[in-house]
Amino acid sequence: MYEIFADLHVHIGRSENGKPIKITAAKSLNFANIAKECANKKGINVVGIIDCASPYVIDDIEQFLKTGEAYELKDGGIIYKDKVCILLGSEVETSEKGRDGKSGSAHNLCFFPHLSDIKRFSQELSHHLKNITLSTQRTDLSGYDLIDIVERYNGILIPAHVFTPHKSYYGNCTDRLENVFREKFDKIFAIELGLSADTYLADTISELKTRTFLTNSDAHSLPKIAREYNKIQVEDISFKEIVKALKNEDGRKIIANYGLDPKLGKYHRTYCDDCQKAIETRVPVEKCPMCKGKNVTFGVFDRIQLIKDKKETKSPQNRPQYIYQIPLGFIPGVGGKTIEKLLDAFETEMNILHRLSKDDIEMIVGEKVAISIQNAKNGNAKIQSGGGGNYGKIQLDKK
Ligand SMILES: [Zn+2]
Ligand SMILES: [Zn+2]
Repeated sequence: MYEIFADLHVHIGRSENGKPIKITAAKSLNFANIAKECANKKGINVVGIIDCASPYVIDDIEQFLKTGEAYELKDGGIIYKDKVCILLGSEVETSEKGRDGKSGSAHNLCFFPHLSDIKRFSQELSHHLKNITLSTQRTDLSGYDLIDIVERYNGILIPAHVFTPHKSYYGNCTDRLENVFREKFDKIFAIELGLSADTYLADTISELKTRTFLTNSDAHSLPKIAREYNKIQVEDISFKEIVKALKNEDGRKIIANYGLDPKLGKYHRTYCDDCQKAIETRVPVEKCPMCKGKNVTFGVFDRIQLIKDKKETKSPQNRPQYIYQIPLGFIPGVGGKTIEKLLDAFETEMNILHRLSKDDIEMIVGEKVAISIQNAKNGNAKIQSGGGGNYGKIQLDKK
């Protein structure tokens, strides 16, 4: 067994020939560039690319395999340069019954072992949405129906960023996943926490006790890959091994979740869109206490306070540690040029954040930046909570 790093939620911006896939994601995010970024800069061993059901991306994957730099594994997944295993995924938006009878929508990460599986899935999915070429288009399916389709093509389904206000099960649809998946809830063995939540918040909901937690980046640009990731114990890198780890089988397991302090996430607290301020009340409110307006985006923290069924957070014994980490790009005073210099010297962000000393870093970029990185790594940072689509902000102590 050995330890690997995995980020299972990365988008594609454009296809290789410039066709839009996810419009809000960077143009440089294409299949080949993601593989290279993970291998050369991020030190990520398994990456889940979740726009692979688009026929344009499927074309790109077929081309990529022809270059000879990558090949498909029998156990599922695509190996690039013997360094990175790519899992073929699709983020699917389902239509659910929301709270108060309104319509709700939720995002789901669906992963498939082989290109032939996701091709057939793509074909079937195209009957349930308007435009199969674009990322995460709303379907007429509910999660309850989608799981059957996913399993028909040998896939797995993981509810994505489960607490975010607009597009998620808890955020937008239900207080309990079991109400959505009913007798199929056993098939949901893992959930994705999302940037604005962490293990300690999620473990106040008892139905999640036996579910694996994933921390993924939801990257919309190359530098944001691995701003959250998982350390996983496996025998090898493949689809089959990752599924085993998510199910906690045969010694395969998640060893640690690395994620942002949830306060840094874009939807941590309820936010008044009129006052443009986070509303940090002790009891969650649906009205802004400042302007009395109702134009508020509900926060992940606030949602969890409303729906939790445990007073205190108590994680099950086998729950892996959640380790707060601050990606380089979030650290005040660490700009793009500094990051480039560090990467030139130390190859991957993983090395810089986890394996190097302050002295190593100081030699390349000087004392001031080295201290900032050190403070951020040690958690010596005050954070102003994010909300309403705005990231939280770090204020590093001067000393
Ligand atoms: Zn999503
Ligand atoms: Zn207000």
